[in-house]
Amino acid sequence: MKLEKIKYKNFKATVTTMSRKTATQHGLYGFYTPNNNTIVIQKDLNKRDYLDTLIHEIFHFVADKSGIKFRNLGEEGVAKFVGSEFSKILIQNPKLVNVIKWCAKPWVYFF
Ligand SMILES: [Zn+2]
Repeated sequence: MKLEKIKYKNFKATVTTMSRKTATQHGLYGFYTPNNNTIVIQKDLNKRDYLDTLIHEIFHFVADKSGIKFRNLGEEGVAKFVGSEFSKILIQNPKLVNVIKWCAKPWVYFF
């Protein structure tokens, strides 16, 4: 199962992959680039690391597009942000829900 895009409000991020070699060279599993709205994730991650990285990068995407400044938000502010913005993300992206379900199944490797 592969996710190709994520919608948030009127924004759209492309989700693409990078090789393990590239990821290792940069010392990360994924990254988000605001200037071209792209989420890049290492290709052959196991499902747990894939889901962890995907959610992490979606957070950066949503944080960027929401324009919310996190520095002084505090625990309640962050909880409010996660609840309101991730509920929007899940409603706008039914395929993401399927990817999360798929990742929760006990198979080992993401292709
Ligand atoms: Zn990060």
